[in-house]
Amino acid sequence: MKIYLDMVGCRLNQAEIEQMARQFRAQGHEIAASAGVADMVVVNTCSVTSEAAADSRQKIRQAARAGAGEVVPTGCWTSLAPAEALDLPGVRRIVLNDDKDHLVPDLLGLSRQEFDLEPLARLSLPGLRQRTRAFIKVQDGCDNACTFCITTVARGAGKSRPAPDVLEDIRAALLGGAQEIVLTGVHLGSWGQDFTAPLHLRDLVALILSDTDTPRLRLSSLEPWDLDEGFFSLWENPRLMPHLHLPLQSGSDSVLKRMRRKTTPDTFRALVEAARAACPGVAITTDVIAGFPGETDEEFSETLSLVDGIQFAGGHVFTYSARPGTPAARMKNHIPRDIRKRRNAVLRAAFAESGLAYREQFVGRTASVLWESASELTEQGWKMEGLAGNYIRVTAFAPEARWNQVDAVRLVGLEGEGMRGEIG
Ligand code: SF4
Repeated sequence: MKIYLDMVGCRLNQAEIEQMARQFRAQGHEIAASAGVADMVVVNTCSVTSEAAADSRQKIRQAARAGAGEVVPTGCWTSLAPAEALDLPGVRRIVLNDDKDHLVPDLLGLSRQEFDLEPLARLSLPGLRQRTRAFIKVQDGCDNACTFCITTVARGAGKSRPAPDVLEDIRAALLGGAQEIVLTGVHLGSWGQDFTAPLHLRDLVALILSDTDTPRLRLSSLEPWDLDEGFFSLWENPRLMPHLHLPLQSGSDSVLKRMRRKTTPDTFRALVEAARAACPGVAITTDVIAGFPGETDEEFSETLSLVDGIQFAGGHVFTYSARPGTPAARMKNHIPRDIRKRRNAVLRAAFAESGLAYREQFVGRTASVLWESASELTEQGWKMEGLAGNYIRVTAFAPEARWNQVDAVRLVGLEGEGMRGEIG
């Protein structure tokens, strides 16, 4: 069978479809580059915002219209709205999050117990979902209860994958030519805490760095309360990428309390200072929600001044979107859409300014860059785009296309939201 794998949303959804591809290939099936040529399309859906839920439905409809034999929705939106998913065109079966780890044997009618994955190389997906970096799922679900969050509802309790399984996936990705491994999960920082003999994410990172030849290891989003000062000693190893994504969500103590976030502006600031002391030049990026229910002008100013004070290397701003089934959706004093949008724009401008200031300090320095795309052949050669260790996007020209290769690049100037470089 030809199978096309698609997704909406987070790195975890990407990691899951990459793993499904490996499992389907192990059973002799071909991974297609588009829905139009596929006998089956699997769509890993998302529900983090109402837009993401709408994009998920649209992808399912598009796959059916493209002529796919069957469309199988799975993931967060599907798990929250199973009846609606079953009603969409081209859909005969759905797979809920609880069964997603067994999606391939279930869809192929194989026994879950006998289904075993040969140590097959993990290759990047063809088509739109091709990624240079390998996203590796190490954990699923979450035991926190942030009041705006639907993910913890859709994915259930926190569950860590055993270290040997994670190492096996990483080795399969390295066998497939991956130059960078990205660890991902719903609540990555809680890895190991649900084991009989609890472990910490620090232990897993140290194990990966000591027991595999991973050239570049990157950590996805980490909740600030999971990290202690000792965590940052891991960055003594140059194979661990100097980038920390720490969701702040709000800079106001009273809003953080209403969000039921286990951090405060002061502890967050102290954590960033500890990270910068341990790893000078580390990129600290974040997520902030604009317009959480009840957010007053004063509370918004507190967020803005904390964001300005910390000088992040970058940040995502989400306009608050009420998700049915979350405590925040039932709160009073929802902020009018135009005000939420305005606050979003103010925060984006603050991140653009601090991001520029962060990149400016790297002009004239050399960075190790992993090339992710060779977009076009110009008079100056192939236009390459890639990622430096500190997550700065770099563009440069090369005589040959250098996709999935790592080069030392001299950063010569700023360009858009990234930098311009010269190879060698
Ligand atoms: S930590 Fe909070 S925001 Fe993150 S997945 Fe858990 S409940 Fe959601």
